Amino acid sequence: MLAIQTKALTKSYGDICAVSALDLEVRQGELYSLLGVNGAGKSTTIRLLCGLLDPTSGSAEVCGHDVVSKRQTVKERINLSPQETAIAPNLTVEENIAFFAGIYGKEKSCVQNIIEKLHLGEIVKQKAKTLSGGWQRRLSIAIALVTEPEVLFLDEPTLGLDVLARRELWSLIRSLKGKTTVILTTHYLEEAEALSDRIGILSAGKLIAVGTADELIAQTGTASFEDAFVTLCTKEADDNAQ
Ligand code: ATP
Repeated sequence: MLAIQTKALTKSYGDICAVSALDLEVRQGELYSLLGVNGAGKSTTIRLLCGLLDPTSGSAEVCGHDVVSKRQTVKERINLSPQETAIAPNLTVEENIAFFAGIYGKEKSCVQNIIEKLHLGEIVKQKAKTLSGGWQRRLSIAIALVTEPEVLFLDEPTLGLDVLARRELWSLIRSLKGKTTVILTTHYLEEAEALSDRIGILSAGKLIAVGTADELIAQTGTASFEDAFVTLCTKEADDNAQ
């Protein structure tokens, strides 16, 4: 079974087609990056898949359930780690995780499991507001994992982080591979290249290319993934202008 399957998924706002006839397939346990320039439709796609927006037409299934008619079932199987970290600044790391575990009715042991799994031991007693950006993102992902989601959406997880903090987050994200399906959006192309099993490129709401980074480089006859991305996006923009 696919973790995500959309068929002609479309979201329009008046004349603007934010997502246009999207056919997306993501396998279980896959780390799939959704790339595109500003306004390409990444956030809208994610909001549709999370059941936060209703499609104008077309359909989407997440974990085999329709995101509109089975919205609650889908919500129980997914989680989203947003760009702005949703953590309580005056609670410690441990208290933040325990707070969300309590909300979702999880066993107390879940808190310790998450702390160990995400290597948060050295900062458990620290108030969230005193953490560096990298640790805050790590905590945000930890909180998203409390519900043991089958599909985790990571929206620009390393935005604004320094190279070392970013690399540490990469190894955390890699450790999820195979167990949790991860949909990653990022503007850092080297991040998508380093982490993804496959990459989908959106342009003006359409999925214009899908493949591994190497496949996209070969398809465009370019020397790097950045060149492949630029080639695909500018070709699509030129085609649309004609
Ligand atoms: P970014 O990388 O800048 O976050 P994105 O790829 O996530 O961009 P979206 O935010 O999905 O792009 O937007 C896709 C298009 O839909 C854009 O043209 C945007 O202006 C438009 N759009 C998104 N939300 C709305 C809305 N609520 N009303 C009108 N237009 C919208």
